[in-house]
Amino acid sequence: MHLTEIKIHLCPSDSGRLKAFCSITLDGEMVVRDLKIIDGDAGPFVAMPSRKLCDHCPRCHEKNHLRARFCNQCGSRLNENRHQRYRMGPDRLKLHADIAHPVNARTRARIEQELLAAFAMEIERSHQPGYVPTPMDTDVPELSVMFKTGAA
Ligand SMILES: [Zn+2]
Repeated sequence: MHLTEIKIHLCPSDSGRLKAFCSITLDGEMVVRDLKIIDGDAGPFVAMPSRKLCDHCPRCHEKNHLRARFCNQCGSRLNENRHQRYRMGPDRLKLHADIAHPVNARTRARIEQELLAAFAMEIERSHQPGYVPTPMDTDVPELSVMFKTGAA
């Protein structure tokens, strides 16, 4: 499997540890969006696209994020420590689940290596005069044109 296209969208410098959003194309046939480059304690790493885990409100059974303090639906106060049940180890809470991820360490390492190289190149590119950030497919082009020209 080859990454036939990599798009890196750098985050503003005030975004904390989140450094970039990435989208990758696998063998020219499948796109995976929302990979993230995060500045970790041991250097930048790639996070796979993930969703926040949910559980059900004991009163109305609406789904809420594990860290939610109140139910979205009925407003009941939720037990703030309930996410502790999903511990994966002494220091690791399970609050997110991957939507897509490599099935072995070798592939994970290769994807990470290629994305970090593309990330470094994008940073390099961003220092050039006239740099235009890579548009992501979540951007709405018509809207950004409107904002740029100041038209309402
Ligand atoms: Zn509820």
